[in-house]
Amino acid sequence: MHERRSALIAIAALVATGVTAAARFAAERAHAAPSLSSTQCKLPAATGGDLGAGFPVGDQALPAVGTLDAAMIFVDFEDHPAPRGSLLKAESNLRILFVTLDSLRYDVARAALQAGQTPRLAKILPGGAWEERRTPGTFTLPAHIAFFSGFLPKLPQPLQPPRLWECRPPAFKTVDAGAFVFDAPNLLTGLAQHGYRTVCIGGVTYSSRETPLGSVLPDMFEEDHWRPQFCSPEPGSPRHQVDHALTVAEQYANHALFLFVNVSATHVPHGHYTGDSGDSWQSQAAALAYADDHLGRLVDGLTGKKRWLIIMCADHGEAFGEDGYHGRGIAHPAVLNVPFAAWLSE
Ligand SMILES: [Zn+2]
Repeated sequence: MHERRSALIAIAALVATGVTAAARFAAERAHAAPSLSSTQCKLPAATGGDLGAGFPVGDQALPAVGTLDAAMIFVDFEDHPAPRGSLLKAESNLRILFVTLDSLRYDVARAALQAGQTPRLAKILPGGAWEERRTPGTFTLPAHIAFFSGFLPKLPQPLQPPRLWECRPPAFKTVDAGAFVFDAPNLLTGLAQHGYRTVCIGGVTYSSRETPLGSVLPDMFEEDHWRPQFCSPEPGSPRHQVDHALTVAEQYANHALFLFVNVSATHVPHGHYTGDSGDSWQSQAAALAYADDHLGRLVDGLTGKKRWLIIMCADHGEAFGEDGYHGRGIAHPAVLNVPFAAWLSE
């Protein structure tokens, strides 16, 4: 446990370092502050009496005497800066690869690895094994919203490792010293503010833009890519997704990059990997076995020349009849238990 905690602290510190280093790119995209008209002001209009009422400005307010056509009050609210020690010394651009293996159960991932069905993952995962974690969301949308809000799957125990990143909390809350604190509503916006290019390689239909709801997750990124070939009905989807991800990474070879890939192969339907009409525990394992070679190709292709922080996990699991349950979106252990791994490439 202590080794794991130390490793995550080290990763968090490097994330902070990489994020800060990328900040110089942010200046290129600095946005001018929008000007507000009087009609956009959310403060109540003061038309008479004590203009200082409601604000601790007292004698700094303009006196409400005589004829006054307009008045402007500057209210200086107290700032709540991010805690010190949060990744604000930058030396290099640490690239980040975040892969979600959609619907992949922890027990399927572990058994496939132990049976030798995923030799590439066995080689690249830290310690040659998956961590067992609990997801914060039981289906694709809430799980990814949680991930992108800073909440990664947690260990199945009370004591948790330090968080890699989190949204700036209220002033009364404390933050792990090494965590990357982004002053933004989500991780993607926070990374973009620090000069990162955020790219989504979509998989399941929550990232396809085929519907308004399917645009919620892609809209969080600066750039998103989806093709029908990336989706689970296509048996070769991992190959197409990884080909595209490597092309995008090459395009941003000299830029800080947050590359997200939602691997759809392990999401239903995957019966085609075993020649069955239905989906099962075994067909999900077969889907993962097919994806294994391409996941290895992705990691090897990215990390040959650059250093990457890599996070791989499932967004949630899938019930295949346990206790009568099928599918996801339910608080069942088959859905809540997910494989997880995070490491720095050599
Ligand atoms: Zn999902």
